[in-house]
Amino acid sequence: MAAYITPPIDTTFLIVGAGTIGLSTALHLTDRGYKNITVIDREVVPSPYSAGNDLNKIVRADYEDHFYAGLALEAIRAWSSPFWSPCYQQTGYAITTSADAPQKARAHINDVISSISSHPDYPKGSIVLTPDSASICKFVPQLGPIPGWSGYFNKHAGYARAALALKKVYSELVRRGVTFKFGERGEADEILPSADSTSPRIHTKSGLIYTSDVVIIALGAHTTKLLPSAAAQLTAKAWAVGHVQVTPNEAAELQGMPVVNCRDLGFLFEPDFDTGLIKLCANGGGYTNYINAGSRSGGEMMKISIPLSAQESHSGIPLDDERLLRRLLAETLPQFKDRPLVKQFICWCSDTRDSEYIIDYVPGWNNLILAGGDSGHAFKMFPIFGKWVVDVLEKGQQTIDRWKWKNTDTSEHAGDISWRTGSVKDIQQVERALSGKDGTLQSSMTAKAKF
Ligand SMILES: Cc1cc2nc3c(=O)[nH]c(=O)nc-3n(C[C@H](O)[C@H](O)[C@H](O)COP(=O)(O)OP(=O)(O)OC[C@H]3O[C@@H](n4cnc5c(N)ncnc54)[C@H](O)[C@@H]3O)c2cc1C
Repeated sequence: MAAYITPPIDTTFLIVGAGTIGLSTALHLTDRGYKNITVIDREVVPSPYSAGNDLNKIVRADYEDHFYAGLALEAIRAWSSPFWSPCYQQTGYAITTSADAPQKARAHINDVISSISSHPDYPKGSIVLTPDSASICKFVPQLGPIPGWSGYFNKHAGYARAALALKKVYSELVRRGVTFKFGERGEADEILPSADSTSPRIHTKSGLIYTSDVVIIALGAHTTKLLPSAAAQLTAKAWAVGHVQVTPNEAAELQGMPVVNCRDLGFLFEPDFDTGLIKLCANGGGYTNYINAGSRSGGEMMKISIPLSAQESHSGIPLDDERLLRRLLAETLPQFKDRPLVKQFICWCSDTRDSEYIIDYVPGWNNLILAGGDSGHAFKMFPIFGKWVVDVLEKGQQTIDRWKWKNTDTSEHAGDISWRTGSVKDIQQVERALSGKDGTLQSSMTAKAKF
């Protein structure tokens, strides 16, 4: 239950987590005039524990659901503004299936097409159906044979230079006077009640305890480690990422290539301008990592899925995904099919059963807000996500039903999310590729000089 409605301007805020949602929230708090904001994180921005610390993320408004499509259209307008546009490339987006895609993947594409076509705000003429490989290659001439592929092309989409955007917002927040604490002084390990039952205090690994009027938890996949009561709604899930290094001449040939997302294989981007790395990400049901986390009140053992450490997450990807990425490469850019997949890692997000975000006060605490449940589709909302968090704060409640805290137990994911193919697997039960051993931590990847 919230204690405030439209908090005074000198309210003190503590944001736990300086990833995508935490930074966006800090930005929107400052936009509305709040001045006393502290953000803590276990690592400096961009953290190797942040799902947003990546070369690039797809920015698209292709949703089956008009609600999210409308929000993503708003986000695309923001990405195109002077502040954000250096981190946004509107390359267009080819959404496809391969020759032997499951019916579910094709059905999803058809549902998205009919949703976009009937959305009142979707810019007219954005999409063109591409029923065969020749028509796809008209829009993405850089692609190889892509035998049996079909789908559609959307010119009103592209990608964000994700780590760059995180760093830009961080610098802007420092300029605006937001306080940041990193390392053990920023690593939250417990939420403590306050003596006077006002706002909770946050205990960190260093022993330092933070007090503030309002605490916002924005820990992404790591949320349930600090806030186990959210485990019924949130499941940490991971997907595999790999890169191919190309030369400057090869990069020049691929420059401007639209994002290609083959629903049953994975997606890839044009080479990164600074490093010459082509990022590929596997599609699928995702990987969980369940641990026992004590017992519920009835004595039943509770299991929660939490991310592996950054080191473990950068120590190879599942072999099945390596095969998937190799096939994606062979069908799209066959000239690179035998090139090593470098800088492999698995990237964690916080999944809800229905892919809805959760932005709400946490029951049982005063002035504690959870901003999470990103479900693998929140980076595109980076410019606007924080606005929704501040709205909850200023209204004193969440008025959007779908983003409310849910008390029903949704932890047992059936993996039947319409936009995902494949089943959910346990990361401990799959064999991982040793080739990932070359992978340095993601933070060092983004620091690499011009290739
Ligand atoms: C493989 C993959 C591909 C994706 N592709 C896309 C895409 O193409 N388009 C798109 O829109 N979205 C995409 N997403 C989703 C997007 O990355 C996430 O929705 C978004 O980054 C989630 O933001 P967040 O702030 O909730 O979490 P994060 O960005 O992960 O931030 C969490 C922060 O918490 C910090 N932290 C962790 N533990 C602690 C602690 N104990 N104390 C203090 N700080 C801590 C971390 O260091 C991190 O900075 C993808 C996700 C994955 C996994």
